[in-house]
Amino acid sequence: MSTINSHVILLVGAGPAGMAVASTLAKAGHEIIILNRDIKFGGLAEYGIFPAKLKLRGGLKKQYWELLKRPNVHYFGNVSIGNGKDLTVDEIRNLGASAVVFSIGAQGTKAIGVEGDSAKGVFHAKDVVYHFNRLPGFGDRPFEMGKHVAIIGAGDVMVDISHWLVRYKKIERVTAVVRRGPAERKYNPKEIRMVCANMDVAGITTEVARIKDRLAAVGQNADEVLKGLTGEFTKCEPAVSDTKMGFKFLASPKRILVDSHNHVRGLEMEENKLEPKGNDTAAVGLKQFYEFPCDSVVFAVGDKVDETVGLPYKNGIFVTNPTKTGNDPDDSLFQAYDETTGKILDGVFLAGWARKASEGLVGVAKRDGDWCAEVVSRYLAAKQPGTGSKAVLDTLKTMLNNRKSHPVDVKGLRALEAAEKSHKNGTDCIGEFKYASNQEMIGLIERRNA
Ligand SMILES: Cc1cc2nc3c(=O)[nH]c(=O)nc-3n(C[C@H](O)[C@H](O)[C@H](O)COP(=O)(O)OP(=O)(O)OC[C@H]3O[C@@H](n4cnc5c(N)ncnc54)[C@H](O)[C@@H]3O)c2cc1C
Repeated sequence: MSTINSHVILLVGAGPAGMAVASTLAKAGHEIIILNRDIKFGGLAEYGIFPAKLKLRGGLKKQYWELLKRPNVHYFGNVSIGNGKDLTVDEIRNLGASAVVFSIGAQGTKAIGVEGDSAKGVFHAKDVVYHFNRLPGFGDRPFEMGKHVAIIGAGDVMVDISHWLVRYKKIERVTAVVRRGPAERKYNPKEIRMVCANMDVAGITTEVARIKDRLAAVGQNADEVLKGLTGEFTKCEPAVSDTKMGFKFLASPKRILVDSHNHVRGLEMEENKLEPKGNDTAAVGLKQFYEFPCDSVVFAVGDKVDETVGLPYKNGIFVTNPTKTGNDPDDSLFQAYDETTGKILDGVFLAGWARKASEGLVGVAKRDGDWCAEVVSRYLAAKQPGTGSKAVLDTLKTMLNNRKSHPVDVKGLRALEAAEKSHKNGTDCIGEFKYASNQEMIGLIERRNA
């Protein structure tokens, strides 16, 4: 199977970053073995990007199917790497591949760290997004959001969750709670079109007027700031619900307020002011507190990597080599590094959100994968090829078999896709049918293979 100078590369994580690494290295003639936690490939392109973005999702899916058709690409879905998972990091490092690339995204959740954060009705944005995208483990359990949802954050993920709440859940009210002011919003103006028909413009006008002195203190004119914010409410998708969407600015949640059933009844919020910080601003708490009623709270404040995987970890990220090599792209940025030994983990690389959690759109993750592939190619050029893919694949299959794992190959994926397509009705906000549990998918694939 292997050609001369072709190496075997183990790639963990089949999201946009991993698929970019796999594509470049497969085209260079290497044998690529992909191990992916989810049965399906795509990562957040399958389970994060808003379901209605059919063109973007469809385009990516098509590219990934093309890649998986290559004879030198071997896919194992439903295989998780980590402590207590199907295989550990050390086990896959010892399988005999020349390099191992981790492109496993940012699967950890940032601690919210406010009193009451374990109450019923408190959600992490990623979990909600996974829910409405039907990721097994999330799609098949209820997410009771109530009538009024407060979403903490001002980025695209806040908008995606609002989109779901406004257009599909059709709840009464959504409030985006923003630490700083309207001028510091982070979402893409195009994204707001999905919800802007539901904006409570009168309420937003009152809210901006409420904070006008604090905006003026950092040289921001409230009228102009309001115009900038509401001026983006154009080309709105027609409203399909009576949901009202608004903002609470200069507000930091300090405590989750709960009822006698430990269910969210509101937030204790602190008023902030803005202070100049270089060319930007920073929010500073004023020690003035108020209660803000709501039925549930979603924290859309970014993610961190999953420290339980077993890669060197520090402060929310996997540790990379601190010593620059001077190459472009710099190898050190992609090399896993163990601070306790002061050495890189030879042949272990990181790409995409596993390297920089919650950073950028698919294009950024893909570019990161391309750069990682360049770094890995440089590493391979100085290395003797190993024993070839057959030996690695045989050992891998034996280990998975012994663990009673249920890996899913490309044939299984095709069977799954055919079965899902045969269902006429889409699920929730998804225009197509999607199984929401691994059990259903594995059962179906194994019956077809029998
Ligand atoms: C809510 C949301 C909406 C977004 N919307 C858009 C958008 O509209 N347009 C856009 O361009 N970008 C969007 N993005 C950004 C985009 O999804 C990311 O840039 C991109 O998916 C990151 O790619 P990645 O490959 O690094 O990680 P991921 O996409 O997270 O892929 C990680 C892969 O690793 C696998 N994995 C995880 N842990 C393990 C493990 N332990 N063992 C084995 N496999 C593992 C997972 O199964 C997954 O397949 C959005 C992101 C979010 C969160």
